[in-house]
Amino acid sequence: MRDTPLANEPRRPGRTPLPPNIRKDKIAVTAMVRISCSARHGGKKEPCASCRELLEYALQRLDLCPFGENKTACSQCPIHCYKPDMRSRIQDVMRFAGPRMVFYHPWMALRHWARRGAPPPPRPGRV
Ligand code: SF4
Repeated sequence: MRDTPLANEPRRPGRTPLPPNIRKDKIAVTAMVRISCSARHGGKKEPCASCRELLEYALQRLDLCPFGENKTACSQCPIHCYKPDMRSRIQDVMRFAGPRMVFYHPWMALRHWARRGAPPPPRPGRV
């Protein structure tokens, strides 16, 4: 459960490196999808096709997140860039894996909970 190969795949060839907070979010969402899939879909070694699709989508959203280094938790986001069906799927994963993160990845869980209390970032391009 500790390796997160999908989060580390190069996803923006030729583009500037992602800010550290987005890289950490990619690792966290990968871990959460893996926890959820492992427990609910039998994806012990690799996520199932459906979870892999969801994860690829979530990682792509993070690649394109307009908040960059100011990004906080997606739940605080004033934009919500996910398509409605994907948003409901990732929320389901978060509800299941969120409480379990404290056992698998306690530092990631602490970071996530701390950021959930932060105020939402201003929309990019607005002051
Ligand atoms: S939901 Fe908001 S914070 Fe999350 S990736 Fe999309 S734009 Fe960024």
